[in-house]
Amino acid sequence: MERITMPLLKLLSYMLLFLSYQSLASDTDFRLHIHVHHQQQSDSWKVQYVLPVAVDHIAFQRQSNFDRRKLYKLDESKFKWDKAGNVLLIRSIDGSKFNSLELTFSSYYDHIQKDYTHNLRYSDGSVLLYTNHIALGANIIEDKSISPIGASFHGTQFHFYGPKQNIIFLGNVFSEKAQWDLQGEGTYVYFGNIVPIETDNMIAIVDPILPKWAWKNTQKYFPKLFDYYEKKTGQSLNFKPVVFFNYGEIDGDYSNYSGGTLDGLVQLTINGKRWKKENEEQFNMLFHFLAHEAAHFWNGQMFAFEDQKHSWMHEGGADTFANIAMLEFNLINATQMMKKFEDSTNSCLLNKNNESLEQAAELWLYRNYYTCGATMALASHLAIKAKNPNKSVFDVWKNIFNKNIKSRVYNQQDYFNELSQLTGSNLLSNALEKFSSHSDIDNHAEVSSWFEQTEITSELSFNYPSSVKRHWGKKIIYDLMEMHCGRVSYSSYDDYIKTYPLDKCKAFEHSAEIQYVNGFDIFLKGVDAYNLFREKCDQKGSVSLQDKEKINIVEVECLREVQRVKPYMRLKSNLL
Ligand SMILES: [Zn+2]
Repeated sequence: MERITMPLLKLLSYMLLFLSYQSLASDTDFRLHIHVHHQQQSDSWKVQYVLPVAVDHIAFQRQSNFDRRKLYKLDESKFKWDKAGNVLLIRSIDGSKFNSLELTFSSYYDHIQKDYTHNLRYSDGSVLLYTNHIALGANIIEDKSISPIGASFHGTQFHFYGPKQNIIFLGNVFSEKAQWDLQGEGTYVYFGNIVPIETDNMIAIVDPILPKWAWKNTQKYFPKLFDYYEKKTGQSLNFKPVVFFNYGEIDGDYSNYSGGTLDGLVQLTINGKRWKKENEEQFNMLFHFLAHEAAHFWNGQMFAFEDQKHSWMHEGGADTFANIAMLEFNLINATQMMKKFEDSTNSCLLNKNNESLEQAAELWLYRNYYTCGATMALASHLAIKAKNPNKSVFDVWKNIFNKNIKSRVYNQQDYFNELSQLTGSNLLSNALEKFSSHSDIDNHAEVSSWFEQTEITSELSFNYPSSVKRHWGKKIIYDLMEMHCGRVSYSSYDDYIKTYPLDKCKAFEHSAEIQYVNGFDIFLKGVDAYNLFREKCDQKGSVSLQDKEKINIVEVECLREVQRVKPYMRLKSNLL
């Protein structure tokens, strides 16, 4: 954070004041106005752009992951698509300048890879629109006589129109018309007539055809979750979050869910007819997703973290908030909660190697922040309770938020300070600090040490659950591809791994479906298969990759020694 001394700060604020008077005096609106009309009958959209300065081309703000030329319809007598490098442009046909433009499109519901879905549909025909696929980027204009601001516009204002519909976004409900000044990554806007579930601290738009049991659970647990977090953190949100929850693909013979988040909102979709039958486990997964994301309204949005390399705090914290809330609401029992943490702990131990946790982001091991972070939060929780049964890990956060109520930014040291205070000792804080920043530590020994003098005993075991067996089975293929090709490309299915051919890599020149390694089932006997693989590696030998009939597909040589199978850590509660 930058430090600015008081007189300078005052001077700056006078200057800003002066500047804002200036722009008021000029009385010109330099915003881009985007008028978005939802046409309910045809489930289509008309979007009108009005720019303050005439331009000869426009480009979109977001490099969205779909082809706009196929979706958006232009008036082809006036406009055409063009490209400058990778950037898609719209130009006038005759090269003349323009300051308004219209495009139309039908709602686009397809899943977009690694990007927000353009539109989402509720069963009653109402829809969500993601604002930033249609937002524009400003052109730089160097001629001050044309543009005193040096760009084609400054800021974007959306105008939404939905005749006879409600328009709902960012905690507000409007009727037929609404306006919004675009901020950040944008938002989802709801157009339709579903009556929202609204409480003091949240709004949910829930699909009316949600199966009864799921509807009942939603009504009960969604508002309760926001109340719970508010109470536990001692902080009311300074915005009203929105949960958009829809039900799709209702004839599909499966059940799954997907979702996404943006500032102030969580979007959830459930798919498939198997949701019609009460399915506790599926609902719990969905609820956990919501509860994790909702925790970020507090530890990411209301209060921001200072350093991404300490993401274990907010990611592990969010998983822990979710696990504890589920226990508190009796969605799971204490044994099930402990199992969730045990899964995280083992996933942390499997995937974190000699590098410090701080390095996880640069190593593309971002997941370790969730899993190791949840373990660190559990250890904090138990150490606090050992000192004072009335306190919990929520109190660490409550105190962090209170201390930083002005700056609304927190860091790792804040966490350790509050943890030490609540446990009456620096012991655990120092150990967690070491785990976060030191390399080459004994991960198992470190993690075990956190649970000493808590209600948990950690035990190392060579009896592995099936998820861990799968991990080691996959690792054979991963290691071999890495050694031979320097890259890895495969998918795993229920009982086999499919490898894809890699260029200039002899060992994996053909695609293959591998189910056995030297006769060991790669998933069911993954640990045994890996142990055999390691022995072969020690002798620079090779292994046979085999198909589902145990027929050899290819014999691949192991080029270097590989790690040992790590023990599994059981977390046993002495209270259960
Ligand atoms: Zn998260």
